[in-house]
Amino acid sequence: MGNSKEKRIKKLKRNRIWPYILGLFLLLFIFVGVLFAALGSSAVGIIQSNLIDSCAQSERIAEVFKDYNSETKEKTEQKILSNIDILEEIEAVSVRDKDKNPIWSTSGEYPSTDESIGTGFLLDDEDKNYSIILYDKETQPFSFDDDEITINPDYFKNNNYSNNKTPDITDTFANAKLWFVIPVNDMEVMILNNITLYYQDFIMMITSVLLCAVMIAIFVIYYLISVISMILGVRRTTKVIYTDMITGGDNQLSFIRNGTKLLKKNRYGQQNYAALHLEMRKYSSFCTCFGVNKGQELIEDFYKVLRKEIHKKEALSHQENAAFSLLLTYTDKNELEARVAKMRNSLNKVLPEMKMYFNTGIYEVPANEIDVEQFYNNAMIACEMSGDESENSIAYFDVEMNKQKLWERKVENDMDRALTNKEFQVYLQPKISTSEEKLGGAEALVRWIHPTEGFIPPNRFIPIFEKNGFILKLDDYMLEEIARVQSEWLAAGRTLVPISVNVSRAHFTREDLAEHICAIVDKYNVPHSVIELELTESAFFDDKNVLLNTVQKLRRAGFKVSMDDFGAGYSSLNSLKELQIDVLKIDADFFRGADAEERGLLIVSEVIDLAKKLNMKIVAEGIESREQVEFLTEQECDLIQGYFYAKPMPVPEFAQKYEM
Ligand code: C2E
Ligand code: CA
Ligand code: CA
Repeated sequence: MGNSKEKRIKKLKRNRIWPYILGLFLLLFIFVGVLFAALGSSAVGIIQSNLIDSCAQSERIAEVFKDYNSETKEKTEQKILSNIDILEEIEAVSVRDKDKNPIWSTSGEYPSTDESIGTGFLLDDEDKNYSIILYDKETQPFSFDDDEITINPDYFKNNNYSNNKTPDITDTFANAKLWFVIPVNDMEVMILNNITLYYQDFIMMITSVLLCAVMIAIFVIYYLISVISMILGVRRTTKVIYTDMITGGDNQLSFIRNGTKLLKKNRYGQQNYAALHLEMRKYSSFCTCFGVNKGQELIEDFYKVLRKEIHKKEALSHQENAAFSLLLTYTDKNELEARVAKMRNSLNKVLPEMKMYFNTGIYEVPANEIDVEQFYNNAMIACEMSGDESENSIAYFDVEMNKQKLWERKVENDMDRALTNKEFQVYLQPKISTSEEKLGGAEALVRWIHPTEGFIPPNRFIPIFEKNGFILKLDDYMLEEIARVQSEWLAAGRTLVPISVNVSRAHFTREDLAEHICAIVDKYNVPHSVIELELTESAFFDDKNVLLNTVQKLRRAGFKVSMDDFGAGYSSLNSLKELQIDVLKIDADFFRGADAEERGLLIVSEVIDLAKKLNMKIVAEGIESREQVEFLTEQECDLIQGYFYAKPMPVPEFAQKYEM
């Protein structure tokens, strides 16, 4: 897998966890802060409310003493005693006169000071080492303002009580016993308040802690949910990355991942593995006929079928178009091929009314190797190299194929530069007339003089150009070169013979081909009759009408048109019927092979006969021996092209050799 691709996938799958952790700490921090603030303010709130309660209760008690005299004494005391049991925070009530002589007390307790100054209340807390604070209506020791209790430090200083300490409000009040000294008539009513802050605070604290716990729990749940959803998100992304959008099954990445796992497990070579590329032929034609949607449905069905054919320790994925990659276990080639045949049968059952053909490329995986991507690549190369000659092909990858693939890549890389730099050279091979044994024509054949590879014959690059379409440019270039050469020779006063150029089948998709050819040739002002165009009957398979029209137009424009490699195809005679041409080039194969002697030559003589009757000239190609020349002369074949006379040669050499 490419490095950048791998990186991209990793990036897609990655989901950073640190923002979650940071978020967790931040939120915890905020919660704790809020909790402390809440606890603090609630404690103050309680103190305040308890204080207010105590003051109110004490004042009510003091009120009772307003009517206190010798007559009401008993009744009042009784009332206080019965109330004191009910009022939880009141511990004791004592009364004394102006001179601080005790009058009456519920418990016999009096504030432990002589220094009380009129109205006020007293704080009695020995632990804290300040026992009394006095309350003055003007300078209260505390002020209650909304939710806050403020201590008036001046008060404690000015009243020179035992140690002049400012009490710590929360602490002190938690343990507070307060004497409230309230003047009533000539008396001081003193009420000992025990403010039980702890109890209420505890409840409040428990509530706060519970509240906080609930908040933390909610937060932790929220956090867990987000972590889980993050994990699910990662899993979902991973699934998307490894899923094929058409079949919903595994895709190429998944195939490589699963395949690698399988091969790693197989490190002791328990199983033989083979990587396969299985592809339906003419899938694009299927889509053209039935539409892309039907095509995708077909692929989906194919995938389901193949899934059923796959065993446990094997892998399968959809590639592009109607191609699938497979990693299969096998015992021997026969068994493997039988399985492929079975798969093809099952695939054919998807559309029983239609016969479908499949090409298969196979790469036998060497033991202990795990580069699934490379193996599958090899299978794909094998499939590509198998061509589409047979109906269902199976091809095994070999090193040669790889070399060929690399070569193809090189050719494709270099071809544009080669055309610009004029690395393609025109070679001419003479056609010699049988009647006079003199030059009657020539064929232009391309050679590639490569800066590093040297001389390259056309069979090493023409098929590649035919596949990738570059042949269109090359043929135009050759035609133009020939037009230029002819115009130069014409200007030099030489007698011209027709020179043929090859027009590849790929040209016959354009309807204005004839006009296009005219335009190229007319740049050089040469008569069209000195240019011959060689086409092969395979052009019939593309668009017959374009072929027939183009040939007609070209002939009307004065070009000669010849049919190359006649007899090499399947429907030669048929094409002769429909296509009106000037020259028939008999394929070199008739003069080769075991039965060349009898059957081949018999056919040749009949073809020559037929061509004569159809008013065509005959050229025999690939003629290498004197016997062949003699035979063809006897049969009145018009021209002979072959090594017997000359191999193709560079233009200057040709010009010199055949001075006219
Ligand atoms: P072709 O058009 O059939 O060309 C004839 C081929 O037969 C040439 O091969 C020629 O060198 C070869 N030949 C001629 N006489 C003999 C002989 O006596 N014995 C043997 N063994 N071979 C002989 P070449 O030049 O290698 O070209 C091969 C093919 O490449 C051509 O077959 C043609 O199809 C294609 N080709 C060459 N140049 C061009 C071009 O410019 N455009 C296109 N489209 N195709 C070209
Ligand atoms: Ca030719
Ligand atoms: Ca030929």
